[in-house]
Amino acid sequence: MIGQLEAKHEAVRAEARVLAASVESFAMEADESSTLHEGIAEALRSSALSELMVPAAYGGRFESVDPLAVCLAREALMKTSSHLDSLFALQGIGSYAIARAGSEEQRHEWLPKVASCETFAALALTEPVAGSDLKGITTTVEERNGELILNGAKSFISNAGVAGFYTTLARDGDGYSLLLVPADVDGLAVEPAPELIAPHVLGDLTFNDVVLPASARLGEPGQAFGHVLATLAVFRISVAGAAVGLMEGALEEAVRHTREREQFGRPLSRHGPVASLLADSWADLESARFLTYETASMAAQDAAENLDRSSLAKLHATEAACRVVDRSVQCMGRWGLIRGSKIEKYYRQARPMRIYEGASEVLRLGIAARLVREVP
Ligand SMILES: Cc1cc2nc3c(=O)[nH]c(=O)nc-3n(C[C@H](O)[C@H](O)[C@H](O)COP(=O)(O)OP(=O)(O)OC[C@H]3O[C@@H](n4cnc5c(N)ncnc54)[C@H](O)[C@@H]3O)c2cc1C
Repeated sequence: MIGQLEAKHEAVRAEARVLAASVESFAMEADESSTLHEGIAEALRSSALSELMVPAAYGGRFESVDPLAVCLAREALMKTSSHLDSLFALQGIGSYAIARAGSEEQRHEWLPKVASCETFAALALTEPVAGSDLKGITTTVEERNGELILNGAKSFISNAGVAGFYTTLARDGDGYSLLLVPADVDGLAVEPAPELIAPHVLGDLTFNDVVLPASARLGEPGQAFGHVLATLAVFRISVAGAAVGLMEGALEEAVRHTREREQFGRPLSRHGPVASLLADSWADLESARFLTYETASMAAQDAAENLDRSSLAKLHATEAACRVVDRSVQCMGRWGLIRGSKIEKYYRQARPMRIYEGASEVLRLGIAARLVREVP
């Protein structure tokens, strides 16, 4: 473990661990559900943890969202339940643009409800035709007689069907804008997305002549990518936090198994090749943890300036998580393959982390460009 955390961060970690422990008995069931699990939703609502996702002026915990606090919370939640982790994470990812660019009226209307989990949040960027290349989206917003008309489709949107609003990216003339779309507007339809290897509350949205007031734009027209990048700058690092939690859980499973099970007259953990797998996984875990905490602290000082470092930490932690679960399965032999076991669940849950919030290959492009600029 790295040196001492500040008291406020220790407190957040303890609080998240209590929340995680409260869902332990039904976490396996919840993590197999691609619709909202009421037990998880209720547990998150009853805790005050979502206050971390909103500035204090609008019902949140700290003056501004603290990336290290969010990382520590996600680490504890993901170790127990990806369903809980995702629901928590989306409260920030979906609402951050409102805190950053919304009008005072929008902030006061939505953010306290996000902080208390009265409303769940969502961010709708991806489309059937556009994933990594968001400038390729085809959803449009047009201004007519002082109103905004939204048309298009979004796919693979977390919290679709359960969110109270969708922060939605659309083409706006020659630029792109983010719009605050309440879930109950006419012309918005939600369909389930395909089932994933690691189930997730996910859906596709269709906007058919959705009429919104001109005030639904978050900030000035054409400024969407500034707000999207600001959101990523604060929350991308938190995926690394979740990956650290997953690694911790997977490695503990492997340690317990290899400590107990004997082959050739001694515990598996004392056979050199198995010990190597455990040691390499611990090195992966602790290096990812160190990089994640350090980067999150830097992001707390200046999130935008440190976006490439957040990408670096996300890349390292999510790639490491896949190595760690794979080694853990190997250490556990046939017991690593049992459907419905914790290790099997981690194995499936690690994989999507290398794709969402910036696929590893796309992150490497930005990281390498920064490196080339920085080396004198
Ligand atoms: C569980 C889950 C939840 C999600 N939730 C949301 C959500 O809430 N809101 C939302 O908007 N989206 C969401 N998404 C979508 C996610 O953001 C996209 O999957 C992601 O942006 C990658 O886009 P893509 O899947 O279309 O892959 P593509 O863009 O088609 O890329 C496929 C692969 O090609 C490679 N690649 C692409 N471009 C480049 C490049 N320039 N250089 C090198 N390699 C490249 C990468 O390896 C990439 O993995 C979610 C996805 C998942 C799996």
